[in-house]
Amino acid sequence: MVAKPTAKKKKWFIDLCENGCQICGRKFPYLNNNGLEWSHIISKKDGGRDEEINCMALC
Ligand SMILES: [Zn+2]
Repeated sequence: MVAKPTAKKKKWFIDLCENGCQICGRKFPYLNNNGLEWSHIISKKDGGRDEEINCMALC
């Protein structure tokens, strides 16, 4: 599940974006909503939550 970090974007997610994609390592400047998306490591239906430990920044 991938959700755009729009109203829910948080400082920790912006920090993840600044480190680039966590799969391919590509750097994206975090501009408006055109940067990286987040993906849940454990999907919400399996009990995952919108927390830093459960999210990856992906391009
Ligand atoms: Zn990537």
